[in-house]
Parts: sequence; C-alpha cells; structure tokens
Amino acid sequence: PDPVLAIVGRPNVGKSTLVNRILGRREAVVEDTPGVTRDRVSYSAHWSGRNFTLVDTGGWEHDAKGIHARVAEQAELAADMADAVLLVVDANVGATATDEAVVRMLRRKKKPVILAANKVDDMVQEAEAAALWSLGFGQPYPVSALHGRGTADMLDAVMEVL
Ligand code: GDP
Ligand code: MG
Repeated sequence: PDPVLAIVGRPNVGKSTLVNRILGRREAVVEDTPGVTRDRVSYSAHWSGRNFTLVDTGGWEHDAKGIHARVAEQAELAADMADAVLLVVDANVGATATDEAVVRMLRRKKKPVILAANKVDDMVQEAEAAALWSLGFGQPYPVSALHGRGTADMLDAVMEVL
C-alpha cells in the first residue's frame, strides 16, 4: 500500500486548499467559514514519481467538547493512520493555543512531522513563518497554498520522511 500523509491543523489554516494544490485539482472543499470538511477524506496523490495517500481532516463542528478537543481528536485519529504528518499553521496568525494542543499530541506519536507555515503569499511574510521554529518541529516551510509558493520544497521535505 502507498504511504499515508495526514494533513492536520486547526480550522481555516488552509489544509483543504493545500490538498487541492498538492492534487493539482479542486477536490477538497474549501470554505471561508470553518467546519466544512468531513472528518477525514483520503485522496491519491503523487510527487517526484511516488504515489502516496493524502488524508485531509476537518469535522470541526462545535460540540460539547469545544474546539480544542475536537481539533486535537481529529488530528490524532488522522495521525494514527498516517506514516507522516503535515502540520499546517497560519503563519499570519502564529501559533495559537489550539495549535499548541495539536503539537503536544503529535509529539507523543513519535511520527515524522513536517511543519507548513501557510498563507505566506509573499516574501515579506517569511519572517512570520520563521517564528514557528518555536513549535519544535524544525524548519517551518513557508508556503502559499493559494498561489503555490513554496509547496515544491515542502513536498520534497515530506518525501524524505514518508
Ligand atoms: P481548512 O479549514 O484548514 O481546510 O482551510 P481552507 O482550505 O478551507 O481555507 C480557509 C480559508 O483560507 C479560505 O478562505 C482559503 O481561501 C484561505 N487560504 C488558504 N490558503 C491560503 C493561502 O495560502 N493564502 C491566503 N491568503 N489564503 C489562504
Ligand atoms: Mg478543510
């Protein structure tokens, strides 16, 4: 079977946009309001002549558990079925308490994590991406899922650990 890459992160950071960018087609549902991606959706993807399975996560309806717990729970389910994890953070917002909750969960999994600092649409925003070194997953890869900026370097890094 193909190796599995799970895309995790809090709502609205651009996970589904990044999935579409990687797939090269608009298949994952992107919304301006969070809460539209079903819990976990798998896609067949390829890069550098290799096939892999991409798992997009969502399902962020606010229930009694609250948003932190829902995000961490969905991220954990996806991470458990994955060989590597692509953690997406909004570089313009920076690391939030919800991001930190996901980071703590991922650290326990001991699986390879590549950190994507998304919404870096231009060079000026790269400083914001660099601030995400603080999350402890090594080099943050500055990307713009919307425009495709930086995604090739990020995918090369993913392939080294997948
Ligand atoms: P998800 O909830 O993490 O799956 O996020 P979505 O992919 O649905 O995107 C949420 C919003 O962020 C949408 O309005 C996207 O157009 C926007 N977005 C995603 N990636 C980028 C990016 O690289 N730059 C900018 N400026 N906006 C983005
Ligand atoms: Mg989504």
